[in-house]
Amino acid sequence: MTEAVIVVGAGYAGVIAANRIATGARDAARVTVINPRADFVERIRLHQYAVDSGSARIELRTLLDDRVRLVLGTVTKIDDGSVELADGARLPYDRLVYAVGSAGAVPVVPGPLFRLDDVDQAERTRTALAVLTGGTVTFVGGGLTGIEAAAEAAGARPDLRIRLISQGELAASLRPAERARMRASLRRQGVEVIEGQRVTAVTERAVITGTGSHPTDLAIWSGSFGVPELARRSGLPVDRAGRLIVDETLTSTGDRRIVGAGDAIAAPASVGFVRMSCQAALPLGRAAAGTVLARLRDRTPDPVTISYVLQCVSLGRSDGAVHAVGHDDRSRGVSFGGLAAAWVKERICRFTVRTMRGTIDRPSRAGATERIAA
Ligand SMILES: Cc1cc2nc3c(=O)[nH]c(=O)nc-3n(C[C@H](O)[C@H](O)[C@H](O)COP(=O)(O)OP(=O)(O)OC[C@H]3O[C@@H](n4cnc5c(N)ncnc54)[C@H](O)[C@@H]3O)c2cc1C
Repeated sequence: MTEAVIVVGAGYAGVIAANRIATGARDAARVTVINPRADFVERIRLHQYAVDSGSARIELRTLLDDRVRLVLGTVTKIDDGSVELADGARLPYDRLVYAVGSAGAVPVVPGPLFRLDDVDQAERTRTALAVLTGGTVTFVGGGLTGIEAAAEAAGARPDLRIRLISQGELAASLRPAERARMRASLRRQGVEVIEGQRVTAVTERAVITGTGSHPTDLAIWSGSFGVPELARRSGLPVDRAGRLIVDETLTSTGDRRIVGAGDAIAAPASVGFVRMSCQAALPLGRAAAGTVLARLRDRTPDPVTISYVLQCVSLGRSDGAVHAVGHDDRSRGVSFGGLAAAWVKERICRFTVRTMRGTIDRPSRAGATERIAA
């Protein structure tokens, strides 16, 4: 019997999962990926895209095995055995992979805040930056994304004053010496770094923190991401953030037919720390496929564990930081920086795309995409 497997979302996790299920199951499954657009978005390059120092779109079909059917559309509800799309169409499933990723700003700060988290938002930011000459741009959020974005902007737009505001210490997950190196690099590149100030609101002309007002021409959110509401809206068990709760095999605790991967899941501690990252999304996508394939073969899926080895941060095009981390993603205190680190980071970005292409067994023919309303 051929089962219908639907993969919702063609990001890092969804593409890997779809290809591995399609190539592993052969005639036992018909795999359909549903995604709003015909491009794969390299989200890890959206800050580059926004400041016009790189592109972030790849034709999705070129990353999918020919056995995978691609449907363009947005899933609005997951029902018992079928999904509903934005245009009202319904597609049936026997098994489903939930891989909708993350987007949006958390916490939401009131006011005109530009964003980098998805391609439409990055496009809007890019347009606003393009018409700006000689002003100040403030990035709100001093984690790794904020650091990368501020440094990229400083390098690409020397005509602008770049500011980075962090609620706590910059890159709070790193060791003090590593943080100090990042601060020094940002300052060398002309980025004004403000730490320990929570942004409470943004106006057309300023970013407001608990202690004052910082004049700005553009404010860009570079803090944490939220997740889509789809699982919650579909009545599936979710955590407070709205992430699909899964067990140690990545199976939804509310429906055994549904398996989750990537940013949009909350996994038990036994799986390991799931940082919102393509570093976690790729192995999770692979593992989700393993669970689906095991069940298609009437086998019990193996428990999943993920771990980390390196954390790589770009600081513009000619500086960076590479930290050795333990399986729990915590720095082990061994690191290097400079041009070599920037080079490694760039190689890793390319490697993620190569990893996805590596799961293709039969390259796609043109035209195998179905359009349903996005
Ligand atoms: C500026 C920036 C820099 C980053 N830098 C790094 C980095 O250096 N290293 C790192 O590891 N991570 C980085 N990240 C984080 C990383 O991009 C994400 O963690 C990763 O993309 C998550 O992969 P995913 O497959 O779970 O989801 P995504 O890549 O977000 O893909 C989800 C897909 O699902 C689709 N989708 C959503 N809802 C629906 C729906 N209802 N119906 C159909 N399709 C839907 C989306 O359109 C999207 O195509 C960065 C993110 C940003 C924004």
